[in-house]
Amino acid sequence: MGLTRREFLELMGRGTVTVGVAGVTACASKTGGSEWVAPVKKSLEEKAVKAGNLPVLWIQGQSCAGCSISTINTVYPEIAEVLTETISLEFHPNIMASAGDLALKILTDAETNKKGKYVLVVEGSIPTKENGIYSTMGESNGKHITAKEWVERLGANAQAVLSVGTCAAFGGIPSGTPNPTGAMPVYKIIPKATVINIPGCPCHPDWVVGTIAHVLLFGVPELDEEKRPKLFFGKLVHDQCERRGYFDEGKMAKDYGDDEGCLFELGCKGPISHCDVPIRSWNNKVNWCIQCGSPCIGCTEPTFPDHEGEGLYSVLPVSKVKDIRWTGKIKKVKNLV
Ligand code: SF4
Ligand code: SF4
Repeated sequence: MGLTRREFLELMGRGTVTVGVAGVTACASKTGGSEWVAPVKKSLEEKAVKAGNLPVLWIQGQSCAGCSISTINTVYPEIAEVLTETISLEFHPNIMASAGDLALKILTDAETNKKGKYVLVVEGSIPTKENGIYSTMGESNGKHITAKEWVERLGANAQAVLSVGTCAAFGGIPSGTPNPTGAMPVYKIIPKATVINIPGCPCHPDWVVGTIAHVLLFGVPELDEEKRPKLFFGKLVHDQCERRGYFDEGKMAKDYGDDEGCLFELGCKGPISHCDVPIRSWNNKVNWCIQCGSPCIGCTEPTFPDHEGEGLYSVLPVSKVKDIRWTGKIKKVKNLV
């Protein structure tokens, strides 16, 4: 029998439930890894037998393809297998065999014949200036088809739209000041569609495959006010951080790469950023942003990368930090961006 929703959530979030919050250092339990892959894959296979494959179409706007690379070039080959073999990934510009009109026919076929029966994944922001000409894919009657048009056409008939990576979710780097192409997030292009934001620069492979699996098995997951699945983005980095004890004691790192000390004065955005990377970690749990002495840059937040004009490594105003327990004077560090 396939997984229940409760079992699925426990499996995907394992390691995130045992975390204490304030006042203790290194409270995170780093379990998990790829143990979710086999049972989720089995459930998806059973569901596909019962319901027929629900195709997934992955298109790209203004993207560096980093979210595709992060998802497919994973250290767990099984995750890529889930995407390419278990889930019916019918269209992906970087990995599909077909090209040209043959490839585009997959999209037009879905648009016409599979209304409400496919999942659309969008990677990259959508340029809107000059009628969207800064990102196009294919032609029709001698005219470029823009990413904006594809998102509007395919998004209108999708069961769900997944905006993968911060560019698609919130505009990300292409929308940074001065935003010369008028880059916009997907949900603003198709405001009536059911859009799920999976931000991150890049996004974590577990977030992408886990969300697609949830949509296919149980429907749209519970989202926060930024349309992010709470399962992965429900907690602040700051509340799960292994250096939180230093913050509470007011012990600050002096420089990037320091093994000890809180990185707040070096511009850490952990107090305003939501993701489970402190527990889930990157690259087969080898390391994560703060563990290697780099401040969190808030890559999963709508304010990334400008952070309200203050820059990537600006020090957060104390007013933005909840539950502050020390009154040390925060020094102003040089803004590196
Ligand atoms: S400010 Fe950053 S480094 Fe310091 S405890 Fe919070 S998340 Fe960790
Ligand atoms: S910890 Fe910060 S920089 Fe690292 S993935 Fe999460 S939001 Fe991005």
